[in-house]
Amino acid sequence: MHILRKEKKYSIEFLFSLALLIEGSVQAFTIPWLRMAYFPFMVFITVFYGLKTIIFLLLLIPFLELVNFMNGEKIIEEITFILSLAVTAGMSLFLKDKMKKTNMLYGNKNNLPESPFSKGGMVAIGDSPRKEGSDEIKSFNNEKVISYYFESMFKPDEEIKELLMAAKNIIFADSVNLFMSSGSSLSFRCSTEESGGIIPSDGGVIYLCIREKKPLILSDISEKKLEVGYLKKDKISSLVAVPVMDGNFPLGVITADSARFHAFSSADSDILQMFSKQLMRILQRERIYPQIYRSHTTLKVLHEESSKLLSSLNMDVIAQSLTDGAYRIAPSEIVFFIAKGQEFEILHHKGLLPREKKISSFKSTLLDMIVKNKEPFYLSDVRHYRSPIMPFKTDNVGSVFVLPLLYEKELLGILALLSEKINALSPYQTELLEVLGNQASTSIANARFHAEIERLAITDGLTGLFNHRHFQERLSLEFSRINRFSEPLSILIIDIDHFKQVNDTYGHPVGDVVLKGVADKIRGTIRNIDISARYGGEELAVILIGTDERGAMNMAERLRKAVMNKTFSEEKSTFNVTISIGISTYTKGIKRKEELIEKADKALYQAKRSGRNRSILWNEISK
Ligand code: GH3
Ligand code: MG
Ligand code: MG
Repeated sequence: MHILRKEKKYSIEFLFSLALLIEGSVQAFTIPWLRMAYFPFMVFITVFYGLKTIIFLLLLIPFLELVNFMNGEKIIEEITFILSLAVTAGMSLFLKDKMKKTNMLYGNKNNLPESPFSKGGMVAIGDSPRKEGSDEIKSFNNEKVISYYFESMFKPDEEIKELLMAAKNIIFADSVNLFMSSGSSLSFRCSTEESGGIIPSDGGVIYLCIREKKPLILSDISEKKLEVGYLKKDKISSLVAVPVMDGNFPLGVITADSARFHAFSSADSDILQMFSKQLMRILQRERIYPQIYRSHTTLKVLHEESSKLLSSLNMDVIAQSLTDGAYRIAPSEIVFFIAKGQEFEILHHKGLLPREKKISSFKSTLLDMIVKNKEPFYLSDVRHYRSPIMPFKTDNVGSVFVLPLLYEKELLGILALLSEKINALSPYQTELLEVLGNQASTSIANARFHAEIERLAITDGLTGLFNHRHFQERLSLEFSRINRFSEPLSILIIDIDHFKQVNDTYGHPVGDVVLKGVADKIRGTIRNIDISARYGGEELAVILIGTDERGAMNMAERLRKAVMNKTFSEEKSTFNVTISIGISTYTKGIKRKEELIEKADKALYQAKRSGRNRSILWNEISK
């Protein structure tokens, strides 16, 4: 009846009555082999009862056999029987203990989520998870490890409950519970009982356990009339409470209780302590999860965006990647200024709507300070800042982070993040933004370097005009375009008159100055869309886009006059030079660009022949 009512406290009486029943049957029906039933009976009870109960029971057995003892007939036989029972009970207890441990090491395989750290199921509790299967951990970036953390962190309660269930089964407790410490109080977190089964009460043994930071075992609670610290439907006669420690800091308490008296030994407390270590790891993971998750995602962003940054030599792509990456690290309004000499230009922005792209001065704004200091600056609360933040109007700004992009101390640009919130960024975010900024600086410097190399490759060193190769390439391009769009196209070939004389009279260096001066005049006269180049020695050429004969003649004359009117000065004297220009314009019959050049050359020859300092159209001499 007691067993049915789960009142295990009368266990000794119950067990003795069972033994009495067996002995009674042996005596009444004189069936001595029935005494063999003692053996399985002994083995069976070792599952539920500890050593103390079993020794007590073994001592009671001679009383049942009192008649035999008194007779003295079978005394040897009786002692052998009792000793055999004792050995059986001992063996059974030993095996049970061994099974408990084995269970702990390997038995939880199905209960707990498989860790990527271990090769086959759970790692031994108390061991560092890296000890086993460490060869499977390739690096911290191992996606499997990280996703394991994340997935497991989505269900810490489940994991804790599974752990408590495992503990309950191993130490044969009625329930195992976890209380978390928050400040000076303990709050109920999780239990093997159904929800609502544990009602926490203030104070009690669990508080003592956390204060003393050591395990407590109580075997006889009703007599001592102790407050456990929580109530449940069933009686609590025995309790083992173990603190969950993170170093020297108590995170909470695990308790195991039982309605039985003397239910827990120090071995059970040791086992529970092992569970407490494992629990501590789950709780630690739960605490660091948001940090890891944030780090993981932001580092991923950083990795993705910086590889985009590094792989690009295009300034627009770099600006876009930089603002995108910054936005992914810290969602906010973003503006990226690129330095253009003393001025700045907004190359990319997110959210903000600046009216002008070009900004000639940051004067009296926060950005001015950044230009001077060249240091990142985080203004966590804009309310106390007196000057304007940006060189344009901004609304609802709570905090600002401004990052100068530097390369070898040169300011390449400025990235500004504006947030509505006060104190919007964590130190971690600003640090990541700085890393992204560094990557961007390198990329911008690379892009600039690349652009410079490209420019040098197509530029003539003396005149600064395009070189012959680039002239040919551009002419091919324009030539293929006119075939599609039937726009007019003209070219000029320009030759300095009597240039040999200039060299002979003033020396070669002066000749160079003259050549450069003529090139400057050409550059200053033609439109932006036209292409001017040094065609050869002192011959220059211009491609006039969308320009017919008349337009080309006008341009040639303007050039000729501009050069003619330019005065060159030499040490003692001043002088002027003139140019002759041959002009050709595309007509339907022309199949190759070379024909266009030949015609302009012929016109130039004609200009020379007819007295120099003039412009001649090929069409006119061919008539
Ligand atoms: P013309 O009016 O017929 O063109 O007479 P020219 O003296 O200019 O004759 P030509 O065009 O045949 O002579 C070109 C001279 O330009 C020869 C060369 O010494 C000189 N020259 C070519 N390239 C350079 C240069 O880069 N620097 C200098 N100083 N002289 C150059
Ligand atoms: Mg020449
Ligand atoms: Mg010449």
